[in-house]
Amino acid sequence: MGLRRFIQASYFQCARTSGILKHVRYKPPSLVQWRYSGSSLYKAVIFDMGGVLLPSPYRVAVEWEVRNCIPPGTIKQALISGGENRPWMRYMRGELTSAEFLQEFGHQCSEIVSQANLSVPVDSFLSDLTSSQMSKQLPIMTEALECIRAEGLKTAVLSNNFYLHSGVSFLPLDRSQFDVIESCREGICKPDPRIYTLCLERLGVQPKESIFLDDIGQNLKAAAQLGIKTVKVDDPEAALKELESCLGFPLQGFVPHTRLVRPTMEIPKDPLQKYLEEVLGGWTTGPLILRQFSHGQSNPTYYIKFGDRHLVLRKKPPGNLLPTAHAVEREYRVLKALAEAGVPVPKVLALCEDSSIIGTPFYLMEYCSGHIYKDVSLPGLDPGQRRAIYMAMNKVLCKIHRVDLKAAGLEDYGKHGNYVQRQVQTWTKQYRATETHTIPTMERLIEWLPLHLPGNQKTTVVHGDFRLDNLIFHPEGPEVLAVLDWELSTLGDPISDVAYNCMAHYMPSDLDILKGLKDCDVTELGIPTAEEYFQMYCEHMGIPPIENWNFYMAFSFFRVAAILQGVYKRSLTGQASSAAAESSGKQVELMANLAWDFATKEGFRVFKECSAAKPLARPYSTWTRNGAFSRRNYVTMAPSSPAHISKAHLILSPDGLPGRAQDLYHKLRRFMEIHIYPAEQVLRVHQVSQSRWTPHPLIEELKIFNCSPPDTGNMEVLVRYGTEEQKERWLQPLLDGKIRSCFAMTEPQVASSDATNIESSVVEEKGFYILNGHKWWISGALDPRCQLCVFMGKTDPEAQRHKQQSMLLVPMDTPGITVTRPLSVFGEEDPPAGHGEIFFENVRVPKENILLGPGRGFEIAQGRLGPGRIHHCMRLVGYSERALALMKERVTSRVAFGKPLAEQGTILEDIAKSRAEIEQARLLVLKAALLMDTAGNKAAALEIAMIKMVAPLMALRVIDRAIQAFGAAGLSNDYPLAQFFAWARALRLADGPDEVHRTAVAKLELKR
Ligand SMILES: Cc1cc2nc3c(=O)[nH]c(=O)nc-3n(C[C@H](O)[C@H](O)[C@H](O)COP(=O)(O)OP(=O)(O)OC[C@H]3O[C@@H](n4cnc5c(N)ncnc54)[C@H](O)[C@@H]3O)c2cc1C
Repeated sequence: MGLRRFIQASYFQCARTSGILKHVRYKPPSLVQWRYSGSSLYKAVIFDMGGVLLPSPYRVAVEWEVRNCIPPGTIKQALISGGENRPWMRYMRGELTSAEFLQEFGHQCSEIVSQANLSVPVDSFLSDLTSSQMSKQLPIMTEALECIRAEGLKTAVLSNNFYLHSGVSFLPLDRSQFDVIESCREGICKPDPRIYTLCLERLGVQPKESIFLDDIGQNLKAAAQLGIKTVKVDDPEAALKELESCLGFPLQGFVPHTRLVRPTMEIPKDPLQKYLEEVLGGWTTGPLILRQFSHGQSNPTYYIKFGDRHLVLRKKPPGNLLPTAHAVEREYRVLKALAEAGVPVPKVLALCEDSSIIGTPFYLMEYCSGHIYKDVSLPGLDPGQRRAIYMAMNKVLCKIHRVDLKAAGLEDYGKHGNYVQRQVQTWTKQYRATETHTIPTMERLIEWLPLHLPGNQKTTVVHGDFRLDNLIFHPEGPEVLAVLDWELSTLGDPISDVAYNCMAHYMPSDLDILKGLKDCDVTELGIPTAEEYFQMYCEHMGIPPIENWNFYMAFSFFRVAAILQGVYKRSLTGQASSAAAESSGKQVELMANLAWDFATKEGFRVFKECSAAKPLARPYSTWTRNGAFSRRNYVTMAPSSPAHISKAHLILSPDGLPGRAQDLYHKLRRFMEIHIYPAEQVLRVHQVSQSRWTPHPLIEELKIFNCSPPDTGNMEVLVRYGTEEQKERWLQPLLDGKIRSCFAMTEPQVASSDATNIESSVVEEKGFYILNGHKWWISGALDPRCQLCVFMGKTDPEAQRHKQQSMLLVPMDTPGITVTRPLSVFGEEDPPAGHGEIFFENVRVPKENILLGPGRGFEIAQGRLGPGRIHHCMRLVGYSERALALMKERVTSRVAFGKPLAEQGTILEDIAKSRAEIEQARLLVLKAALLMDTAGNKAAALEIAMIKMVAPLMALRVIDRAIQAFGAAGLSNDYPLAQFFAWARALRLADGPDEVHRTAVAKLELKR
C-alpha cells in the first residue's frame, strides 16, 4: 500500500488485508455483470466454522462410525442430547480439557450404544475431526470472503469451538481475515444469544446490518430472533448464491486488491471498448469487465478484462483540478522512459489525452501478476528468502537511481538540486495549513530541519513512495517484476528514497497504517538492519556511506507526520469515527517523535564532529603570537598531533565558532528560551511537592542533553575502562538516556577527599565479589531510573596504598543495597535524583562486574577527570551569567532613595566586578576545554584543577551580589538565585574540596 493509499485507507478506515502473502492471480469473473450500488444494507458477514468454512463434522462422524463399527448416529446423538451440561457443551464452553472431555464423552457414547463395557474410541474421532483434511477452508468460501472484504464489509467467525491437547484452540483459519469469536474462550455457546451479541459488539454492527451462515438450524433460529439475517448452509454453493443475492454483489471472480466499480467512479463502457479495440487491434474483443482497485482514490485505477487481455487503466479524477495535480501524463511518461531504461515497471500501452472518451485523460498498462508482500516481516518465508527479497528491493532501487536522465529523456522531469530543502518547505507549509494543535516535536523539527539540510545532493529519478508493498515480485522467486505507484516521483535526492524505504524498521508492528519491524528481531528473521540495508545500497551504487543518514530518517518521518496531520484534520471534520480520528492524531505525534529521535542522534553526531580530534578554524587566538603550545608539551596522542594542535585557537565568543557549531549554539539558546526558562518555576514547585521523587514528565520530554552528573563521569569511566559487554549493558542505555546511574565513593566514617581512605570491603568468593560498606552523598541514588552504581571499595587492604581499591559495576536492584535517606543541601533534597545514604550488606556481584581489574580503582578515580568535571564549571559560568542578567534587570527596574538601583555606585561596582570575574573564569574554562579537546585530559590536568578551584568561588561571589541586589526576594524560591547559590556552594565540596584542587595546582606549578 503506497503512501497516498495508506493515508486514504486510514482515513476511510478501509478494511485491510494484512499479514499474508497475496498471490495476485486472475480467475474469470462470472459473466453476470454486477453493479455495486454502494448502498448495501449489510456491513458484516458472520460465518460458522465447521460445516460452513470447513467440511461438515457430521460427515466425519458418519465415516468414522462406519470405520470403527460403531452404530450409526451414536456421535450425533452424543453431541446433541443431554442438555446444557452434556460433555460436548462443557467442552465447547472451555470447561473441560481435551482429556476430561474424551473420558466423559467416551462414557456417554458407551451408554448410547447400551454396551457399558464397549469402549468407544472417541479420541480417534477427535483426531479425525481435527485432521488436516478437515482443516482446509473450502476454496469457494475463501474466494467469497475475499470478495466480501474487498467491498469493505467485515467478516467474523462465530464458532462453537474447543481446546486441543496442546491447550490452543482448534482454528485452522487465517485469523487476519476475521474477527474470531470462539465459545471455548468466551465460556458461552451458540445458540446462547449472548454470544451473538458479543460478536456484533466486536464487529461494531447492528443485528440488521449482519448476515449469519451456519449449518445448524437452532443456531440460525437464535440469530434470527435477534434480528440477524440468516443463511442455512446445507450445500455451500447454494448458500453462497443466497448470500450473493442478499449482498448484491458477486462472490466469485475476485481480482486481488480490486472491488466493483463505485457508482461515482463509473466510466462509460462503450466508448472505452471502442478505444480498446483501436489500440489493441481489432482481433481483441469480447465482453468488457471492469473492476476498480481499492486504493488510488487520488488517481482512480481500474482493472480491465477485455478478451484475453488483462489491463490496468489509470485516469485523472473527475472535476476541476489544479493544472499540475493528478498528472497521469507524467506517470505515463516516466513509466515509459523507465521501462526503456531497464527498470521493471508495468508496461504502458497508450496514453489518451482526449477527455471526450471517458471524461478525463487516462493511460493503459498491462496488468502484472505476481506477489505483493503486504507485511514487511515476510511471514511464512525462511530467513534466506527474506534476505533475498530485501536484496532484490535494494537492487531495484539502485536501478531507479542509476537511470541516465539524459539518455532517458527525463532531464526536465523535475527541478535539479535542493530537493530536500524544497520538500521540507512544502511539508512544513502543508503541516501549518492543517495544524490543529501545537505539537512540540513538530515545532522543533520545523526549526531543526532547515538548519541541517544536506550539502551535496545528487539528482536522480526518485520514486517518492518506495516501499516493499509497492513492488510486485515473481511468484516463484525474489525477482521484482514491477515497481508501482509513481505518483510522487520526480527528480530529487536519491538518499531520501532509501531512508523512506527504511522507515518500517523503526515503526512498531501494531501500527494500523503501516506494520513495522521495530519489535521484531530482524537479524533472526534474516532481514537486513536499516544500517545494513543502507550499506548494501551504497555498495550497489558504488558510493561511500553518507554521514548524515540520521537527517534523512528524521526528514522521512517528519514528512509522514505532516501528511498524517492532514489526514487527522480531515478526519475531525469528515465521516471517520472519533476513535479513528484520535488514532490518526496519535500517529502524527508518534511519527514526529520518531523524527525527533533521529534529529537528536544527528545533533550528537554533528556535535561530536565539531569537538576534539578535528583541526578547528578558529578566528581568535590568545596565543598566536608566541605559538600556542611552545613551552609545554600537551601531546598525549599520536605523534601526528602536534601539527594539528598548533593550529588550534581559543575561541572567545560564539561568533568565532564554525558554522555548524554556531547553528547548535543558536539552537540551544532558542531551546533554552522556548523550553527551559519557562519550565523553571514549574520544576521548582515540583521539587518541593509530595511527588518530588518522581521525575517530572517535562524533564523526560526536555531531556536532550543527557549530561548530568554523575552519569557523564560514569559514561566516561565505561568508555575508557569498560569491557565490550559492560559497555553494551550499561553504556548504551546511559547514552540513550534510558537509565540513570550513581557513583559511590564517599563514606561517613573517613575523610573521603582522600580516596585512599575508603574502607568499604570487596571480597572475592567463588566467582563473585561480596561488597560491604556504608556510603553517603551518593548523587542520583534516589532517582527511580537509577539502575547502576559504580562502587568503590578495597579489594586488598594490604597492597600498596594506591593499589588497594577497586571499582565495580553494581546493578541497583541487587539484594543487600538499602538507600536509607536523602541528604539535604541547605535544606534542599535535590529530588528526584537526591544524594543518598546507602548501606551495602553482603551485596553479591559477578566477578565480570569489576572495572579494569582488582587494585585499579584509584587509577580509575584519577582518570575520571574529563567532561564531567568541566561540565560543572561550565554550569557555574552559566549560573553566574544568569545571576548577572537577573541582577541587571532588577536594578534597572527598581527605585530606592529616589533613583534606580542601577545608579547606585555600589551596584555599579558589583556589576563591573561580576562581569570581569565571569569573563576571567570563562576564559580559563575555555582554555581547559581546548586543551582537553586537543591535548587530552591528562595534559589538561592543571587547567582542570584550576577551574575547579576558581569557578565555584567566582560563582558564589557573583550570585551573592545578585542576591544582595534583589533584596529579600533573592533568598526566596521565587527566583533561581538561592538555588544557584546552594549548588555553587556544594560544588566547592562535591567534586573534591577546593583545598585538594589548590594543592594539585600548587604541586604542578612547583614542578614547572
Ligand atoms: C552535593 C554533593 C554531592 C556529592 N555527590 C557525591 C557522589 O555522587 N558520590 C560520592 O562518592 N561522593 C559525593 N559527594 C561527596 C564529596 O565528594 C565529598 O564530600 C568530598 O570528597 C569531601 O569528602 P568529605 O565530605 O569526606 O570531607 P573530608 O574528606 O572529611 O574533608 C573535610 C575538609 O577537610 C579539608 N581538607 C581535606 N583535604 C584537604 C587537603 N588536602 N588540604 C587541606 N584541607 C583539606 C577541606 O576543608 C575539606 O572540606 C558529594 C558531596 C556533595 C556536597
